[in-house]
Amino acid sequence: MVNIEKHWYDVVVIGAGGAGLRAAIEARLAGKKVAIISKSLFGKAHTVMAEGGAAAAMGNVNSNDNWMVHFRDTMRGGKFLNNYRMAELHAKEAPDRIWELETYGALFDRTKDGKISQRNFGGHEYPRLAHVGDRTGLELIRTLQQKIVSLQQEDKAKYGDYQARLRVFAECTITELLLDSSTGEKRIAGAFGYYRESGEFVLFEAPAVVLATGGVGRSYKVTSNSWEYTGDGHALALRAGAKLINMEFLQFHPTGMVWPPSVRGILVTESVRGDGGVLKNTEGKRFMFDYVPDVFRKQYAETPEEGDRWYTDPDNNRRPPELLPRDEVARAINSEVKAGRGTKAGGVYLDIASRRPAAEILKKLPSMYHQFKELADVDITSQPMEVGPTCHYVMGGVEVDPDSAATPGVLGLYAAGEVSGGMHGSNRLGGNSLSDLLVFGKRAGEYAAAYTDGLGKRPKVDDTQVAAAVEEALTPLARDGGENPYTLQSDLQDVMGTLVGIIRRKGELEESLNRLAELRERIRKVGAAGGRRYNPGWHLALDLRNMLVVSECTAKAALEREESRGGHTREDFPKMSSKWRQVNLICSLTPDGDVDLTHQPIPTMTPDLLALFEKSELAKYMTEEELS
Ligand code: FAD
Repeated sequence: MVNIEKHWYDVVVIGAGGAGLRAAIEARLAGKKVAIISKSLFGKAHTVMAEGGAAAAMGNVNSNDNWMVHFRDTMRGGKFLNNYRMAELHAKEAPDRIWELETYGALFDRTKDGKISQRNFGGHEYPRLAHVGDRTGLELIRTLQQKIVSLQQEDKAKYGDYQARLRVFAECTITELLLDSSTGEKRIAGAFGYYRESGEFVLFEAPAVVLATGGVGRSYKVTSNSWEYTGDGHALALRAGAKLINMEFLQFHPTGMVWPPSVRGILVTESVRGDGGVLKNTEGKRFMFDYVPDVFRKQYAETPEEGDRWYTDPDNNRRPPELLPRDEVARAINSEVKAGRGTKAGGVYLDIASRRPAAEILKKLPSMYHQFKELADVDITSQPMEVGPTCHYVMGGVEVDPDSAATPGVLGLYAAGEVSGGMHGSNRLGGNSLSDLLVFGKRAGEYAAAYTDGLGKRPKVDDTQVAAAVEEALTPLARDGGENPYTLQSDLQDVMGTLVGIIRRKGELEESLNRLAELRERIRKVGAAGGRRYNPGWHLALDLRNMLVVSECTAKAALEREESRGGHTREDFPKMSSKWRQVNLICSLTPDGDVDLTHQPIPTMTPDLLALFEKSELAKYMTEEELS
């Protein structure tokens, strides 16, 4: 009989990034007993890596900015496939969430007159990203953790125990959600997992779970994502009976490091371009002017001179095309490299050295300076950086109700931050993730708490589900001579990188599904040598089934969507199709665990929001029928 440590909570938050911490704070403020569970060390979530800033239309640097402009930019960036209600709530509530962070103790960079400073980023009409140098995520996480500590101090004063109502379980991986189906509906009853260090099992009984587990980038070799982004939350949701929406949309950030090979994929913040950096090919040409698509033609400069003037006089000039949304810039770099105008390592140049004084670069981009100096021996104040696309962010994710972050179909299950889908449509604008996780993290915590208030009796954990979770976890350790988890991960990354990458084709996508089916069989036979005490091979063996099912969703949806839009480019269907814009692709699991893909009509935008756009712009995206 294995030992299982047991805990009892009102709300369990899986993930200690910005979304998870913000949700936990809100649920605790609503008086709930809350657990925060984190696969990595506390404080080392993805959010801490965020560099450029959090987008919020505060209008501090340009007073023309407001939520309506932010909403428009977000919809344009997502190519009008965004869940409009999420985009609306996000644009309206982001400024309050930023100001609130300052009341928790954050200190953003300031304008000369003492307001929170805001910087330019791709796709944002006005300077909009509240930032702390190029280490914004660090300040965000530091502040949220500080708020958590202050709440724990309150609890100590009231109950004599710091952890009475808010406790962090770090280095603890959740492998399964537990359900109570006794009433005929699926209701969350808890979550099961293990401590990474000891390998001991742990069970959280709770009627509400907030998924805040971040992204899926580790299914690709070249990625800005760190080791823990294996799509766990996506897979947990699927297995519990929730659905994933639009998983074909993956963001390949245009600027990752490409050299040396050991650091390939590490992010080079968009702030470099926001602060004046330009992209050049090996012929020295500033090539982005050749890649402005028709839908954006009116908003972007036609000449380098106009683009350069925009930095100091944005009211009378249009922005440079280096600041197009990320999908456009990534595709442009890809085309330049393919046309033979890229570097040997397969990148292009990002030059800020010839455009800004060294002192300014050091002040605004200190982390980038150190990153390139230490990892590539490149001094960005005097030399250009070598960059290329890297898998960065997943726009698809767990389907949620826009207002409450609740998953339809599984009572008590909520999702916020990168793990949720819909908000960013087919492409996320830079800076919109940090604001998204604050807005919807808060909402998820609030609604999860309210849900527990309305419960008659607590759902009951089903012992057979716990026994199955234990068996699933132990099986790789019991298997002698099983498949090596590291080989399997590498093979999976090969399939995704070569067949479901930045440019996609029908034949390759079909092949990817065959290869993923083979991998599914091999992953069933994965083995891990050694015991349960800190055993990374075993941890990876357990993560693999999550990576696999999420990759299957991405490949299946990518094959189905016969158009190119945002983070999904089909060479065989190179244009956007207004018919496909009306469709969300939904993935769920059949009882046998296979991925089932269905079409869902996208919700119709309300007239007041439609009125924020000119009809001529809407005509670029919508069918005649919709417009009438
Ligand atoms: P994360 O911060 O990713 O946290 C996920 C948490 O879930 C972690 O604690 C992890 O350990 C935990 N977890 C995962 N699986 C499990 C499991 N099975 N059990 C228990 N815990 C689990 N966005 C912006 O808006 N602006 C920027 O400037 C910006 N810069 C970026 C720079 C870099 C280098 C990167 C990589 C991303 C950047 N992003 C930026 C994107 C943004 O940082 C992320 O999208 C965002 O932080 C995701 O936050 P989250 O709270 O959803 O999840």
